[in-house]
Amino acid sequence: MESYLKKDIRFVKGVGEKRAQLFEKLGVSSVGDLLGLFPRRMEDRRIMKPITSLADGETVGVTAVVCAMPAEKRIRKNMTVYTMAVRDGSGVMHMVWYNTTYVKTAFRVGETYCFYGQVKRGYGKWEMLSPLYEKPDEKKAIGRLVPIYPLTEGLSQKIVSQTIKACLEEMPDTVVDPIPKSVREAYGLAERNYALRQIHFPDDEWCYEAARKRLLFQEFFYLRLAVGFRRHGLSQEKGLAFSCRDPRPFFEVLPFAMTNAQMRVLREIAKDLTDKRPMARLVQGDVGSGKTAVAAAAMYMAVKSGYQAVLMAPTEILAKQHYETLSGWYASLGLTVSILTGSTTAAKKRKILEELKDGKIDVIVGTHALIEENVVFHALGLAITDEQHRFGVKQRARLAEKGSAPHVLVMTATPIPRTLSLTLYGDLDVSVTDELPPGRKKVDTYAVTESMRQRIYRFLRQGLEQGFQAYVVCPLVEESEALDLKAATILSAQMQETFPDFSVSLIHGKMKAKEKEAVMAAFAAGDIHILVSTTVIEVGVNVPNACYMIVENAERFGLSQLHQLRGRVGRGGDKAYCILFSDATGKTAEERAKIMTQSNDGFYIAEKDLELRGPGEYFGTRQHGVPSYQMTELLSDVKLLKQAADAADAYLEEDPLLEKEQNRALQQVVAEKIEENKTTMN
Ligand code: ADP
Ligand code: MG
Repeated sequence: MESYLKKDIRFVKGVGEKRAQLFEKLGVSSVGDLLGLFPRRMEDRRIMKPITSLADGETVGVTAVVCAMPAEKRIRKNMTVYTMAVRDGSGVMHMVWYNTTYVKTAFRVGETYCFYGQVKRGYGKWEMLSPLYEKPDEKKAIGRLVPIYPLTEGLSQKIVSQTIKACLEEMPDTVVDPIPKSVREAYGLAERNYALRQIHFPDDEWCYEAARKRLLFQEFFYLRLAVGFRRHGLSQEKGLAFSCRDPRPFFEVLPFAMTNAQMRVLREIAKDLTDKRPMARLVQGDVGSGKTAVAAAAMYMAVKSGYQAVLMAPTEILAKQHYETLSGWYASLGLTVSILTGSTTAAKKRKILEELKDGKIDVIVGTHALIEENVVFHALGLAITDEQHRFGVKQRARLAEKGSAPHVLVMTATPIPRTLSLTLYGDLDVSVTDELPPGRKKVDTYAVTESMRQRIYRFLRQGLEQGFQAYVVCPLVEESEALDLKAATILSAQMQETFPDFSVSLIHGKMKAKEKEAVMAAFAAGDIHILVSTTVIEVGVNVPNACYMIVENAERFGLSQLHQLRGRVGRGGDKAYCILFSDATGKTAEERAKIMTQSNDGFYIAEKDLELRGPGEYFGTRQHGVPSYQMTELLSDVKLLKQAADAADAYLEEDPLLEKEQNRALQQVVAEKIEENKTTMN
């Protein structure tokens, strides 16, 4: 069974090389990964209703007989509509598809099919737009609870679901469940194979819930055991005790005094660095709390102790900004800094790699390019990852593997509620920069509806005329990427029309790194006044003159994400504003607006976000890297988390190395977890 789960996804029926690459984007490379791909949510498609009982706008199933083959009508160039009449005992309905040629031959007159889709009702007529359909006995996409999976371009729900089905069909029926019976009984957990089947093809919602509970518990149970193991191992591991204990010369070059919080965190870090045990520390701190300076001080200590340091950032723009900041600070201290990203030219890269290997470069900043195989350090002592939640677990591990047991620091501005971070990052020490530098003014935040747009634009104009700049952020998610991008493009054009005397530009994820770079640089230089963007600017960028943050469709962002966006403005000491456009109504919308307009506390907002949205989307829509679905899912059920942790701790107490006969399977799984998670923070 365990070996089956490790089977390469490429060799599963219907997958192959090309699809395997798409699956890879979802973090799926083995059968086990795929079966562990949790649905984002369940859609209940069991409800079938008679046609004449359907309400406008309802999404529902209908079982009906086809009256006539689809009629084809070209309504304009590149747009053909297919309409097909069906009837059930109650009445007649029209199924409508656009540009879907294959429906022409998909049906037989007089036969019964199930349809599922959104109902449009008007003037006593019923229509269903682009419905799904199948024969009544198929029960694949209709007539059951259907899991909705996270997708990537080129992989549809259907393909994911089919592939999972193929995996489940070939799954050997093993007798050994790695979670021992005693634990399963104590916590009311379903068996593993049952859970793997029911999470994807549930008999009903209770079965699904049982499966979900088991799998969540399992993830955390294993992880916690792995952490226990690691702690055991760590106490023996030899790291590098830095000789430099005094970062004070570095403070001399800073244009500001460190805040108390920065000093406290730095002390915690310095203590780790001067100890033989390798540091594994997470620095959490609200946007703008000054984590970079803390990291820079730590890197200074590394260099003064005779080691090199590396700082990896998730985006090119951010890496560049870090590079410039550090170059400025380090210049007079005699530290050499370099930058390596995807757009570094081949010649330059060759030189950098050489100097890095020879130890001529003290500090290197960069993106994923840093973890490529040919990047070799002379003596890496400190590996720092900025905005760590943007990186896949493996990427972080690869960075640390560039040295031999280097100290590891990860930084994040996505505040994880304290309670959770303790549980979730059990093997990490956590420091918090919970204080903003002085002089920072609270960003005034307004939640407004579309009807306010003209007033907001007049308000914005005043700011622009005073010489300030503005960000306008539009949502973009993968599922509707093309549409979202179009909306952003249109908005950008409209704004240019509204503000003809100012320069408006668009930046988005599909642009080449070079183009993005150029736009960002122009914005930073003040040549662009309004920067319309999809969420690519979310992380870390610093333009002090930008005082307006306008967010479109704010309901599509998580609160933490909004808070991060808001942190992009008000960095220069001038009064800053954040405008959240949304026409969403209802209790949650109101609550969200209230939180954003009243609170400026990233941790409080994160807790609320968790409460209101649930954890699935905790880290927001993903932009880069591989998201850890299991991890984010884990956040959903704090109670379950706690139970799993307790169970694991108790278990380890009894059998610390899981050597007992009945723990064989468990030991194997945990050993693999450790291997995978060498990771989380090694
Ligand atoms: P983040 O924690 O979000 O990474 P940064 O390190 O980018 O924050 O810092 C945000 C801004 O605050 C930068 O312009 C930085 O120079 C400035 N800054 C950092 N620490 C201080 C301080 N102690 N006093 C004044 N400004 C500071
Ligand atoms: Mg930062």
